[in-house]
Amino acid sequence: MTNWVFLHAHPDDEASQTSGTMAMAHERGDRVIEVLATDGALGVVPDGLDPAGLAAHRRAEHEHAAEVIGIDRIVRLGFADSGMTGWDSNRDPRAFCNADPGSVAERLVGVLREEDADVLVHYDPHGNYGHPDHLMVHRVGAAAADLLGPGLRARARGDDEPERRRRALREGEGHGHRGRGLLGPCRRGRRREADRLPPVADPLGGRSA
Ligand SMILES: [Zn+2]
Repeated sequence: MTNWVFLHAHPDDEASQTSGTMAMAHERGDRVIEVLATDGALGVVPDGLDPAGLAAHRRAEHEHAAEVIGIDRIVRLGFADSGMTGWDSNRDPRAFCNADPGSVAERLVGVLREEDADVLVHYDPHGNYGHPDHLMVHRVGAAAADLLGPGLRARARGDDEPERRRRALREGEGHGHRGRGLLGPCRRGRRREADRLPPVADPLGGRSA
């Protein structure tokens, strides 16, 4: 059994970005945990809904989605939605984009240890499309992987081809946080770490997350 932890920014990112992988993992008997950073209060408001009720609306949707997908546990970090780049909400001290990545990573590491996590899935360095909260997911995920070191096969979403990663590590082609996120802070030992990766290091069997 594999214990998966997915770090997401907003309620609905689990459905739009990793629901297939989550459902696959659940169906084969793995444990699926989602760590959710924000309340999603600044998302698109559906017609007829009071904007003040959006966070509660999205929370209910998210809980329903979690049931359908097969998420075993949701851990909410409780940050405010930062909104899109340039919005006034970017200056809200409660906004996820203003959190200290290191301290949030420590909270995430607490969950990873508690769950004896095998895999952490977070976002690529562009946060998939540049939303401030998505960029933070990458920073926090990479920082957590650094804190844990090579015991956790954390990876950024989209960085999913084991042989290419192994080759990049051997050749010292780090990709900023992404490279460190794979194997933790042992930069001098990258070649050794790459050699220690088993032939099939990817619990997805090469499928994309
Ligand atoms: Zn999002």
